[in-house]
Amino acid sequence: MLRATIPLGRVAGIRVGAHWSTLVTLGLFTYLLGRSLADTHGNSVAVWLVAAAGAVGLLATLLGHELAHSIVARRRGTRVERVVLWLLGGVSELGEEPKDPRSDLRIALAGPVTSLGIGIIVLVVANLVGSLVSGPVPDMLGWLGAMNILLAVFNLLPGAPLDGGRVLRALIWRHTGDQLRATTMAAQSGRILGLGLLILGGAEMLLVGNGGGLWLMLLGWFLYSAANVELAAAGLRHRLGDTRIRDVMTEHPLSIPAAWSIEDLLHSQIVHTDHRVFPVTDPADRPIAVLAWSDLTALPAAARATTAVRTVARPLPPTARVSGDELLSAVAAKVVLRPDFDVITAIDPHGRLIGVVTATDLTLAVQRSALGLPVRRSERFRPPNTAP
Ligand SMILES: [Zn+2]
Repeated sequence: MLRATIPLGRVAGIRVGAHWSTLVTLGLFTYLLGRSLADTHGNSVAVWLVAAAGAVGLLATLLGHELAHSIVARRRGTRVERVVLWLLGGVSELGEEPKDPRSDLRIALAGPVTSLGIGIIVLVVANLVGSLVSGPVPDMLGWLGAMNILLAVFNLLPGAPLDGGRVLRALIWRHTGDQLRATTMAAQSGRILGLGLLILGGAEMLLVGNGGGLWLMLLGWFLYSAANVELAAAGLRHRLGDTRIRDVMTEHPLSIPAAWSIEDLLHSQIVHTDHRVFPVTDPADRPIAVLAWSDLTALPAAARATTAVRTVARPLPPTARVSGDELLSAVAAKVVLRPDFDVITAIDPHGRLIGVVTATDLTLAVQRSALGLPVRRSERFRPPNTAP
């Protein structure tokens, strides 16, 4: 989703990155907080430095919210790709769907509970500091605490992809045992909520005429479109019906031996293909990892000869290693396939690679099935009948 991200390192073993749009958020919150602090404490460099510290503090607490989701997800056996900060906050990129309603619920609640906890603690600290010193610092801390509580409440609004929407999905899933129906209802709720925020923001801009309305409209629009994406994904999963992995997979795929160096790879035949993502195999031809060209771009050219493919490739999660007979819809529900970044590998009973399914294969299968065309590869390219 967010490609142009700057890696910030790892926290608790989870990769953290920031999209360039985080700088817009940082600037905007520094401006809003600084203007309000300058009203009470006068316009000085110190006031603006405190405001900047407050904006950085807000981003740090947003990161705390997302890390809470990711840490609980990992503990519940769900693969976590990374946490990314961007314009409207943070995103935890999970590599697969939660395994059961209880995990879904806990992962969803972890974020808002953390924000609420941080908010309360920061407000207590703000009061303590306020009783010792005066000036902009206690006000900044008060703002930071209040923002975290607001964040917790906003995120609990019951529409996917907000945390409250995930809570709603988990509860419906537990009640009905039907994950698809639960996902659909939570996404529909997210769409209604997004439209509501758009209208509310528009009304605020017209009636009150301040910038808060624009922010609300932006959030509403984002929520509305993200809920639409979720709804489409759930519906398409439904349409895939009894299509099997072997019906859509690319057979005899190109794979990269894990022992190769990056230098070997860049001098191999593989660079002449159009593919952008490859399975990485061990000496017994078993898929163990996945490598996309984008995984290599950050590697300095000087390190290519000494870096093995296995150290740069991302380990393949167990859910992305399946038998060719498995239902595509069941696999697609468990794995998040990002275009040009992930693959599902099909293996034989000995664990050896027999095929791959990419996000493109999946999209094609879904579109063909929506059009009523045969999804199976074998049915697609029948030679025309040339009999006399
Ligand atoms: Zn959250």
